[in-house]
Amino acid sequence: MIIHLRTACVLVLLTAASACTSAPSVRYVTLAEIQASLPATPVVAGFDIDDTVLFSSPGFNYGLNNQDGPGGTNKYGESPLKSPVFWNDMNSWFDNFSLPKASGNALIQMHLKRGDRIVFITARDSSKVSIVPKILKQSFSIPKPEVLFTCDKPKRSAIVSKGVTIYYGDADSDMLAADSAKARPIRVLRSPFSTNRTSYAKVGLLGEEVLKDSEN
Ligand SMILES: [Mg+2]
Repeated sequence: MIIHLRTACVLVLLTAASACTSAPSVRYVTLAEIQASLPATPVVAGFDIDDTVLFSSPGFNYGLNNQDGPGGTNKYGESPLKSPVFWNDMNSWFDNFSLPKASGNALIQMHLKRGDRIVFITARDSSKVSIVPKILKQSFSIPKPEVLFTCDKPKRSAIVSKGVTIYYGDADSDMLAADSAKARPIRVLRSPFSTNRTSYAKVGLLGEEVLKDSEN
């Protein structure tokens, strides 16, 4: 009897332990599933830019890690992402070396075919000169890309003001902003070659859907 009780206790403990350690399930979706889930009428689809539709790590890597300033320092200073000179270079020149992501292109083409409006909402700083719309136009065949720069501010108000109902992004902050704006958040995975390591700890864990095979 005592042996049976001990066995039962061990089983209960093992079950509890496995329940505590089992990973939460991530909701993966395909492009076809997203398309099938959309209403028949056109929607406004919002897109983040960096690591979502463009692989822009080359420019950011140079901006953050160059040693081309005085005495081998960074030419954009100690905080390149706060430098207007960096943002001007990024937005007006470095994007020539950004690569369009195939998954981003597939999403955009699906929305264009449906007649949806597409809005790009990026946390990049704006700059005096910008080729960002031109790069998006030539990369994804969008006649006149609409781009909003939130300048490192949360994207919630931009998502709301543009009437975005579905928002694609790679960062945790994108998912949280979309959710707080009552838009449907869809996570796009970062390329394994991306140099961005920020805001990416909770992939699939914020209640969002995750687009399968969207690293490239
Ligand atoms: Mg991004």
